[in-house]
Amino acid sequence: MAIDEEQGVSMNSDANDVVQIHFKCTQAPEAWVETHLSEGLKLSRNMIAWRQRWAVLFDHLQCTDCQRLQNIWLADEAFKHDHSCGFSDERGQHPWHDLASILGELPSPRRTVED
Ligand SMILES: [Zn+2]
Repeated sequence: MAIDEEQGVSMNSDANDVVQIHFKCTQAPEAWVETHLSEGLKLSRNMIAWRQRWAVLFDHLQCTDCQRLQNIWLADEAFKHDHSCGFSDERGQHPWHDLASILGELPSPRRTVED
């Protein structure tokens, strides 16, 4: 067993040579993730979380739980979920704007300079 106190990481190796890595964390797990994930991974995580709730169908978004739809030009209105929908919480109210916010974090296009 090796412990690197400075890194806050310990590694265990059991009899079957399965290595387990443990991270000592003084922050809440969510704060640790925020601190240590790269911007690209945050973008991926946010997009995956959004996609778990929504599907794009042409100019509509569909809730993946209640299957209700909203047209893009109604983006300023709260999404009308079925009363039994599991995604009708605060995060389920303005999915177009949530998508725009995620896409607003896209890395800028890499430009090539042509003289
Ligand atoms: Zn719904």
